[in-house]
Amino acid sequence: MQPTLLSGNVYYVEYNCFKLLLFSLFVQLFDYVADCLEDFMENKNIKHKKLPIGFTFSFPCKQAKLDEGVLLSWTKHFKARGVQETDVVSSLRNALRKHKDVHADVLALVNDTVGTMMTCGYDDQRCEVGVIIGTGTNACYMEEMSHIDLVEGDEGRMCINTEWGAFGDDGSLEDIRTEFDREIDLGSINPGKQLFEKMISGLYLGELVRLILLKMAKEGLLFNGEIATALRTKGKIETKHVAAMEKYKEGLSNTKEILMELGLFPSEEDCVAVQHVSTIVSFRSANLCAAALAAILTRLRENKKLMRLRTTVGMDGTLYKTHPQYAKRLHKVVRRLVPNCDVRFLLSESGSGKGAAMVTAVAYRLASQRKQIDEILASFKLSKENLREVKTKMRAELEYGLKKETQPNATVKMLPTYVCGTPDGTEKGKFLSLDLGGTNFRVLLVKIRSGRRKSVRMYNKIFAIPLEIMQGTGEELFDHIVQCIADFLEYMGIKGARLPLGFTFSFPCRQASIDKGTLVGWTKGFKATDCEGEDVVDMLREAIKRRNEFDLDIVAVVNDTVGTMMTCGYEDPNCEIGLIAGTGSNVCYMEDMKNIEVVEGNEGKMCINTEWGGFGDNGCIDNIRTKYDKEVDEGSLNPGKQRYEKMTSGMYLGEIVRQILIDLTKHGLLFRGQISETLRTRGIFETKFLSQIESDRLALLQVRRILQQLGLDSTCDDSIIVKEVCGAVSRRAAQLCGAGLAAVVEKKRENRGVEHLKITVGVDGTLYKLHPHFSRILREMVKELAPQCDVTFMLSEDGSGKGAALITAVAKRLHSIGEN
Ligand code: ADP
Ligand code: MG
Repeated sequence: MQPTLLSGNVYYVEYNCFKLLLFSLFVQLFDYVADCLEDFMENKNIKHKKLPIGFTFSFPCKQAKLDEGVLLSWTKHFKARGVQETDVVSSLRNALRKHKDVHADVLALVNDTVGTMMTCGYDDQRCEVGVIIGTGTNACYMEEMSHIDLVEGDEGRMCINTEWGAFGDDGSLEDIRTEFDREIDLGSINPGKQLFEKMISGLYLGELVRLILLKMAKEGLLFNGEIATALRTKGKIETKHVAAMEKYKEGLSNTKEILMELGLFPSEEDCVAVQHVSTIVSFRSANLCAAALAAILTRLRENKKLMRLRTTVGMDGTLYKTHPQYAKRLHKVVRRLVPNCDVRFLLSESGSGKGAAMVTAVAYRLASQRKQIDEILASFKLSKENLREVKTKMRAELEYGLKKETQPNATVKMLPTYVCGTPDGTEKGKFLSLDLGGTNFRVLLVKIRSGRRKSVRMYNKIFAIPLEIMQGTGEELFDHIVQCIADFLEYMGIKGARLPLGFTFSFPCRQASIDKGTLVGWTKGFKATDCEGEDVVDMLREAIKRRNEFDLDIVAVVNDTVGTMMTCGYEDPNCEIGLIAGTGSNVCYMEDMKNIEVVEGNEGKMCINTEWGGFGDNGCIDNIRTKYDKEVDEGSLNPGKQRYEKMTSGMYLGEIVRQILIDLTKHGLLFRGQISETLRTRGIFETKFLSQIESDRLALLQVRRILQQLGLDSTCDDSIIVKEVCGAVSRRAAQLCGAGLAAVVEKKRENRGVEHLKITVGVDGTLYKLHPHFSRILREMVKELAPQCDVTFMLSEDGSGKGAALITAVAKRLHSIGEN
């Protein structure tokens, strides 16, 4: 908590008549408080204003929220009746309601210790403990949320009001309590309660001294055994007397004066003895407080796993402030008890009043921040209705893409792949596979064995594709690809063999046969010139010819979704859908030939590469696109295109997060309102950081470290917000993807004309595989939106490479059947 945005005045006036209400009714007490408030606001001429109120209520309350507190018991001198189980904030609100012209609202209930800590925290950010030693005694400190079982959430810290005054109420202090302590307790309004407080605080010190003096007098040790009436009267010696008697220099004369006023006639020795008694009592008080504080400091140090703790303790309370020796003694003992803590003691100036205002100001700031953040993230929360609509629209787009009439204008292109069968296990031989994905280029040698020792073995090499090649000329791109193939053949020592080759090309291609594919348009990070509208197999053949070093038998051009489906189909014949959630997002599935109007023939099935990333390019999901999606789209290589993909896939999620972070920072809600150069850099926030930040195993501090490594200097509060943003973006992505997939499985179910469909989806893609929540949310969504389908998700191991080889093998097999 950093109370840095506190602005405006703190109004402060004391109404001391409080004590008069000692035994009144609870309701009357709050009526009185409300009266005081009205009176005060009238005086200050602020009655017309709607001001947030911080209410310092220095009695033990159980708080479930900042603005709620159930009084547990009265301490000190208060004992209003009708209290049990009542929330003091609503009591005050009710009382305020009777004052029609007072418009203030109670925003925070604050214990005086917390107020003290907050006031000091305003001056010294290290302040994380507050201690009061006044009429009563109490302390608060910042505890790790993960240690607080009573409150949900594990992140950050929360201030804990210890109510340490009740220490010993379970008997744990019995061995050090004296007969005088017991007498005081028995004569108090809450016997058996607040036993620690009764040994320490201002309300009891004078009385302790009186009881000791009384006993000493009775035993003839003082005043010649004479016992004045005053000495028998409760409350005659007050803590202010104790303080005066211990004053340096005047202490002794003060003692004499005080005793004379009580009607006693003390000798010099009497005065020295009485002074000594005072010292013993106040010394014990300071020692006990120091011991308790040492326990808190030790805990703080252990929480932070530090060898040495540097911290500040905010101090308040009349005893601590006005007793001439008290503070000094307390400090000394604390330092002796916890030598591995460097403690600074900071006096709080009217801590309770100012502190309450600060807690309120912070709460006010946090509440308004929360509201703004919630509003921004709300646009990423999709309702069930939204998602059902996405499914319905996707379902309609799937149909458009298949129909001759609507196909040319369809946004979901539904490209036939000429892959007509899944593997049957008889495939065998050696194959080459190429895999051009969104990030890398891989060349593989795949050895497939059939029969009883059915197996697939693979050897591969990964080559990076430099950005200037991705976005250079087509010839450069294909020359680079052939160069990589040459490297690989060399490396494997198979340059002479003319192996059948399958080319996984993960971009939309319109195919006329299995080995012909015209690039419809680049997606993801590619934009090489002179390729769109050209046949990629031809371009590859020409590049091989240009190099003139080796020859290859290009059998199939394969989309990565199809490769994935085929790989999983090799293990599970029920796999008829392939899904990719990686750099891009796409799906393929086996469709009945009779439904594919654009391809001749009505028998059997063919795999359709949906290219669903283009869903929404006609504006049909613009109602759920946010301004951040639009910004990401505008900054991309293909503005206006692949709108669905840009909301769901790895290449874009990090960018969406970055756009939101910029906006939050502009609103002053993050990074102290400073938009750093880093944050302005496109691509800085990669999707893998989403995975890291959202990992449940990561502590907040580690999130902060990730952000700092990115050059984003963040506080803990910032880290919480960034994590929330990541969660909102990836959750929406998974939900949208799930809604789309629900449309596909529903279509399969209707194709088969069954009530219930059991089907397997082969999946590949790093987003699906590595993000901590994406796959679960996606699966849940499919279950919810397609309840009649029982969908199994099967992770494809190396789908694109293996799949291309399998397709090549199947094509070879079917080809040779044709020839014979
Ligand atoms: P491609 O889709 O390019 O063929 P992948 O399926 O491996 O290849 O996906 C790579 C993409 O996955 C990267 O571009 C990136 O957006 C995303 N990604 C990388 N690492 C992670 C990760 N740890 N968690 C989530 N997504 C990641
Ligand atoms: Mg891939």
